[in-house]
Amino acid sequence: MQKRIALFGSTGSIGTQALDVIAANPSLFSVEVLTAQQNDELLVQQALQFAPNMVVIGDESRYQKVKAALAHTDTKVFAGEKALEEVAAMDCYDLMLAAIVGFAGLKPTLAAVEMGKAVALANKETLVVAGDLVMKKAIEKRSPIIPVDSEHSAIFQCLVGENLNPIDKIILTASGGPFLGKKPNFLVNVKRDHALQHPNWVMGAKISTDSATLMNKGLEMIEAKWLFNLRPEQIQVLVHPQSIIHSMVQFQDGSVKAQMGLPDMKLPIQYALAFPQRLPNTFPRYDFKKPNTLSFEEPDTKTFRNLVLATEALFKGGNLPCVLNAANEIAVYAFLRNRVGFLDMTDVVERTMEKVPFIAQPSLEDYFESDAAAREFAATLIHL
Ligand code: NAD
Ligand code: MG
Repeated sequence: MQKRIALFGSTGSIGTQALDVIAANPSLFSVEVLTAQQNDELLVQQALQFAPNMVVIGDESRYQKVKAALAHTDTKVFAGEKALEEVAAMDCYDLMLAAIVGFAGLKPTLAAVEMGKAVALANKETLVVAGDLVMKKAIEKRSPIIPVDSEHSAIFQCLVGENLNPIDKIILTASGGPFLGKKPNFLVNVKRDHALQHPNWVMGAKISTDSATLMNKGLEMIEAKWLFNLRPEQIQVLVHPQSIIHSMVQFQDGSVKAQMGLPDMKLPIQYALAFPQRLPNTFPRYDFKKPNTLSFEEPDTKTFRNLVLATEALFKGGNLPCVLNAANEIAVYAFLRNRVGFLDMTDVVERTMEKVPFIAQPSLEDYFESDAAAREFAATLIHL
């Protein structure tokens, strides 16, 4: 039996790699849904190759173009934000790969969870914003959430077979990004193109920027808290520039399990799509015989203050991670358009966290309101 996949965010870095995995395993997976925001040409090309039941183009002004290009096929075409949520709530697929970037991924992912669907989760912002509600709903609806983020996939893999064994702590590894070892006097002049040159991974622009500022690791601490039901004190970040150990779990007896491999997102994507199976593949493999060193160091939180802000949000909880995420999205997109400097991004997040009123136990509506309030205030700081 083929697993029917709904790929939300199919034109992105994760989405296109997921389609490579699916194309390599046609007897195991079929594509039921593809969605994209802007890139109508790639969406059409993907639809012609994979013949999904449905596609959704987020940007409604591109609907006619997609519709015309697929008129001779059986693929149904929808457009707009609402359609993303409606298609996610349909009972025509087995697993959603949530690979939309940012807060925009929350509603479709929640709709899938509400349906009790399995979710392979790349969209970490969903858990950063509303991890409590999403995980509660996932338990209620028996919707398995399988992480795609490489660190969380590593932890998930380390935990297989350990159901009865409490975790002592997890160690999230961070590559350190392109500016590892740099200080504020250097970072103040950094521009978009430099920030997007990640040493180990090729990713979308938003997460690449987050990796350069270490906000990505901050978001991942919060993601880990919800995925693995951890207390904030149990989450440690360690810089490991080679990105070979993708993360580790220490158990109560002090034993540490690590998951290793070359940095290649196709592996965690494949693992999440095929779970609980492991599939053969032709991905390059890590060679222990080559001269190589695996090194570890503490993150420089004086320079990369986003980690401090994210730690504060992790410990305080409530709507603070949601506010942090919204302000960060505004700051990152402003940076990508050369509207703010590299270090200003952290200031925008910090000041927005101070400004938006704290809510200890937010409802879903509260999260949407906090997100909107944070975006509005962050935008005024940047004069957008
Ligand atoms: P990307 O920018 O390459 O792709 C994003 C996808 O989402 C595209 O298909 C785009 O059309 C769609 N999209 C963008 N804005 C949208 C909106 N407002 N509404 C609906 N769809 C929208 O991003 P990516 O690098 O593939 O990352 C996707 C998610 O996976 C992010 O949450 C990221 O943090 C996470 N992730 C990515 C990687 C990676 O290696 N790229 C690794 C770990 C986690
Ligand atoms: Mg990651």
